[in-house]
Amino acid sequence: MRKVENKHIVVIGAAKSGIAAALLLAKKGADVFVSDYGQISGDAKKKLNKAGIPYEENGHTYKAKSGDFVVVSPGVATEAPIIQHYLNAGKEVLSEIEAASWFTDQKIIAVTGSNGKTTVANWLDHVWETAKKEHALAGNIGVAFSDQVESNKGDFLLEVSSFQLDHIKDFKPAVSMILNITPDHLNRYQNSLEAYAGAKFRITENQTEEDQFIFNYDDPIIQKHVEQLKQKQSTPQLWAFSNEREVPEGAFVRNDHIIFKFNDEEEPLMHIKEIGLRGRHNLSNGLATALAARAAEIKNEAIRESLKSFTGVEHRLEIAREVEGVKYINDSKATNVNAVWFALDSFNVPVTLILGGRDKGNDYSELKDQIREKVHTVIAIGESRDRIEEQLKDTAPNFVRVETMGGAVRAAQKVAKKGEVVLLSPACASFDMFDSYEHRGKIFKDEVNKL
Ligand code: ADP
Repeated sequence: MRKVENKHIVVIGAAKSGIAAALLLAKKGADVFVSDYGQISGDAKKKLNKAGIPYEENGHTYKAKSGDFVVVSPGVATEAPIIQHYLNAGKEVLSEIEAASWFTDQKIIAVTGSNGKTTVANWLDHVWETAKKEHALAGNIGVAFSDQVESNKGDFLLEVSSFQLDHIKDFKPAVSMILNITPDHLNRYQNSLEAYAGAKFRITENQTEEDQFIFNYDDPIIQKHVEQLKQKQSTPQLWAFSNEREVPEGAFVRNDHIIFKFNDEEEPLMHIKEIGLRGRHNLSNGLATALAARAAEIKNEAIRESLKSFTGVEHRLEIAREVEGVKYINDSKATNVNAVWFALDSFNVPVTLILGGRDKGNDYSELKDQIREKVHTVIAIGESRDRIEEQLKDTAPNFVRVETMGGAVRAAQKVAKKGEVVLLSPACASFDMFDSYEHRGKIFKDEVNKL
């Protein structure tokens, strides 16, 4: 807990989490100033005005430089001059989850990783709901932690990004989780996977023996960092999950059954076929979710029930519709190659793959094995069409270029046969043609509904 009364706090970035932090800190008696490099939305201004919090937009003036410390939005890079100003002055630069955490003693269950955060956070929400355990779902997921901190009297289920973790100090989850670490956002980490992994591991930084760290035993980068973690003086309990091997402590799969293992005692949980979501990655996500529930002392029966009944999150391998025996799947949230790899991995029928959008320096050739095995047609859309064509044309038996999502869906219908799958899993950002990945997914579904 930190006292903020009469502290002069500057909040940089007036998006959702920045505004939420500003309102919370002001309520707690701080003297808050909000500064944004761009425009502040009308809605955000209204909230600030109502709370009597001064602000500036379209640039940071001297007013943004005089804080005792600064709370920074996840969208602002550490290299930004205003952040460097504070760091050079030896002042603290903190994230919104750090600030919010000062004002609650409730248990925090925090999940991070390169892929699967939203899925697991929502799955946790479903488990807590099923177990009728008081909780709030927050973080990188739409509702800021700061918005929930005063009203929630139960557990906090938080989705946290590496950008939020970059600027923590005392943030201490009772249960922390890292799902996987694959190259993403490396531009914010000097192109260093090590630096990016290091940021994610900060989730364990303040944890002690009574806390749990849940991690992917099958991920070599995570494994390496866990070895380093073991050298620390005070470490959380290490609970591993794996769908490939047995683990010393945690959850694994044997003969298609999920087994919990604690203190050398095994407890069979359920058959993997009973899990509500398809795909190997979702088995991992389910194992991680089950362990977090266990850490929160939720009964195995409720865990089993909620692993069965979870139906997933929109735009993540979501079944849009079945037309003439062909399933159309919306995986618009697959904005990197790894997510597409796992999407393809989860099907054992022939696939027509719709790929493309705004490229992030992708190496599509990582998909070649999966494409050879099950994709008969690649349909390329968006800015990255040329690059995709260059890297995959010789691998995919059929390669089609289209201009629009409607064109992609219609081209897919022509080639997909009964029993097959048409999969939108773009591996790219959406901003070349759409407002967001949600918008892209919605247009895909609209077009599928026109068939
Ligand atoms: P995040 O919140 O980390 O971006 P999401 O749950 O929104 O993750 O999923 C993003 C994409 O990654 C989706 O295409 C989804 O199907 C895929 N995905 C989900 N879980 C995993 C996982 N454990 N490993 C790889 N890909 C995954």
